[in-house]
Amino acid sequence: MKNMQAPTKHEIDTLAALLRKRKQHLLKEIRQVLRRSGNEHYADLLGETGDIGDESVATLMSDTANAEVTRDILEVRDIAGAEERIAAGRYGICIDCGDAIGYERLHAYPSCKRCLRCQQVREKTRASTPHPKL
Ligand SMILES: [Zn+2]
Repeated sequence: MKNMQAPTKHEIDTLAALLRKRKQHLLKEIRQVLRRSGNEHYADLLGETGDIGDESVATLMSDTANAEVTRDILEVRDIAGAEERIAAGRYGICIDCGDAIGYERLHAYPSCKRCLRCQQVREKTRASTPHPKL
């Protein structure tokens, strides 16, 4: 797809703010659910940044077995990945084909890492990859 441009500095700032806000919201929600379900330890482990290690996340997800928490954590990790790409100057670039993702798509889905075309390909092939890399 042509005519797609990588997001400008200003656009990235806007998207970064959206990501930050969304992440704070998710972390708050995760902590609330954990406290409610008696997992204080994890609620404390999950700091303001949500910056917990892979091992802790894996344990957390298997221990709580709470679909809501699991989904939220995966999204937080997606957001953290997007923030890493911003820091590395690779944000808004499809991780599969290297094309620019396009501001409209990023705005609707700021943590997305693939262009629409690659996402569609991936969704079609998902059935044959039962253990996708997180
Ligand atoms: Zn792509």
